[in-house]
Amino acid sequence: MKTLQELTRPNIWALKPYSSARDEYQGKSASVFLDANENPYNGPNNRYPDPLQWDLKKSLSRLKGVAPERIFLGNGSDEAIDLVFRAFCEPREDNVVAIEPTYGMYLVCAEINEVEYRKVLLDEHFQFSADKILNAADEHTKLIFLCSPNNPTGNDLNHSEIERLLHRFDGIVVLDEAYNDFSEQPSFLKRLDDFSNLIVLQTFSKAWGCAAIRLGMAFASADIISVLTKIKYPYNVNQLTQQQAMEMLHRYYEIERWVTTLKEERDHLEKEFLKLPCVQKVFPSNANFFLVRVTDAVQIYKYLVEEGIIVRNRHTVALCGNCLRITVGTKMENETLIRALKKY
Ligand SMILES: *Cc1c(COP(=O)(O)O)cnc(C)c1O
Repeated sequence: MKTLQELTRPNIWALKPYSSARDEYQGKSASVFLDANENPYNGPNNRYPDPLQWDLKKSLSRLKGVAPERIFLGNGSDEAIDLVFRAFCEPREDNVVAIEPTYGMYLVCAEINEVEYRKVLLDEHFQFSADKILNAADEHTKLIFLCSPNNPTGNDLNHSEIERLLHRFDGIVVLDEAYNDFSEQPSFLKRLDDFSNLIVLQTFSKAWGCAAIRLGMAFASADIISVLTKIKYPYNVNQLTQQQAMEMLHRYYEIERWVTTLKEERDHLEKEFLKLPCVQKVFPSNANFFLVRVTDAVQIYKYLVEEGIIVRNRHTVALCGNCLRITVGTKMENETLIRALKKY
């Protein structure tokens, strides 16, 4: 691997971050806070939140088995995705490589940051080859994006291939595990010690049922995390979000229950889909959604909209011609979908 300094943009490496009032005051117990120009009234929302979210990171650390210094929290995983471009990719000079098809935000962030985005097509089983990815890379490739289980295809990527890539690539591999809670495959979090060039992304938006609070997690070496922390907005995760996340940590048993139910419902839905005349193929899924190839995705999408049911039309996505992506809902919602499709 290249050194972190070689991988980081020189201006970012040299940057002295903004130091907020809450950064400067550390530790010692105080009761009079006259340092941040806050309004003393309207507690508790009058105070700036902890810029580094230590309480939340400590609790997450126990759940995830990762030291707090190796956790970055952001305004959704989308913040972490944007920050890795800004930290590591020199606009118009560096590039990134990603599997295709995959989550659309990697490309959007590349375009916003004027960074070349190289797509490497998955095979017909939606698997990738480390060699093909490495062939697409050159000395200006700073990041490789993988997503497992992948969106919109729903499948886990082959773990030995991910490992091979981590061993052979001299830049940073960003592995998006937004849907790992639904998968039987172990998370790569346990492998952080083995790979100093690995960033694992997870989110509160899916299994945790907290898309509204906007909270994403990045896990990596303490050195990579300090680079991301240095360039984030000082108060990027608001107090209400930190509180709600803490509350969810106390109700972790509920998340486990939701995941079990959603996986059962997914398997049931997939079986029902196989019986439908308009369905040509149901792709196996390790997530809380699945991809299905139908006779006419555009028509069926429109028909479902008229029935008041919204699915995701992926017809124009590479390898996904005539495919719809179906999110698993409640038992009732899923039944409504099946009923509608039966009369199509
Ligand atoms: C939904 C999703 C996310 C979550 O993004 P947030 O900004 O955390 O809501 C991340 N990655 C993938 C692949 C997703 O599908």
